[in-house]
Amino acid sequence: MRVIEQLAELAEVDRELVTAADELGQIDARAGGDPEALRLEAHRAELEAEAARRTAARRTEELELEALGERRRHQERALYDGSVRHPGDLQRRQHEIQGLRQLGATHEERVLAAMEAEEAAQAELAAAAEAARATLARVGERRRADAGRRPQLERERAAAAIRRDRLVAQIPPAALRTYARTAQHRSPAVARIIHGTCSGCRLPVPARVLDQARRDELAVCETCERLLLL
Ligand SMILES: [Zn+2]
Repeated sequence: MRVIEQLAELAEVDRELVTAADELGQIDARAGGDPEALRLEAHRAELEAEAARRTAARRTEELELEALGERRRHQERALYDGSVRHPGDLQRRQHEIQGLRQLGATHEERVLAAMEAEEAAQAELAAAAEAARATLARVGERRRADAGRRPQLERERAAAAIRRDRLVAQIPPAALRTYARTAQHRSPAVARIIHGTCSGCRLPVPARVLDQARRDELAVCETCERLLLL
C-alpha cells in the first residue's frame, strides 16, 4: 500500500474515532439529567402548590359562608321561638338578619369566584403534569436507547483504536508527522484528486502537484493544505 493510501485510511479511522467520541459525549450529557424535563417538573410542582393554595382559599370562603348562615339561623330561631318579646329587640334582630342575608349573598359570589379560580388552577396543573409526564417518558426512552447503543459504540471505538495503532506502526514517521500537522487544522487531513480537483477545497490541483502525486510523493494541496490521494 502506498503511503498516501495508508494516510487516507488513517484519516478515515480518525474520523470514526471522532464520531464515536462525539456520540459517546452526547450520551454522557443526556445521562446527566434532561434540563427540559427538570424545568417542566419544577413548573408542575409550582402549579401544584398554587392549586393547593386555591383549594385552601375556597375552603376558607366556604367556612365563612357557613358561619354567616349559622349566625343568621341563630337569630331566626331566637326571633321565632318567642324568646324575644321586646319590640325594639325584635326590630334590632330583624335588621341584623337582613344584614346577614345580604352579607351571605355577597359571600356566595366570593365562594363561586374561589371555585372558578381553583378549577382554573387544577386545569393548568393537569396540563403541566401531562407535559412533564410526556417529556419524562421521552427521556426514559432515549436513555434506554442510549444504554443499548453505548456498548456498541465502545466496541467500535476500541476496534478503530486497534486499527489505528496497526496503521501507525506501518507508516514512515516523517509522513505521520506531516499528517499530524495537517490534521490539526484540516478534517479530514487527506483529500482525493478527482478530475484534477482537490475534493477538500474543490479547487484545481496544479500540474506540478499532480505530478508529485503520480510519482507517489506526498503531494499537498496548495489551497487547503490537505494531503492529496490520486
Ligand atoms: Zn484543497
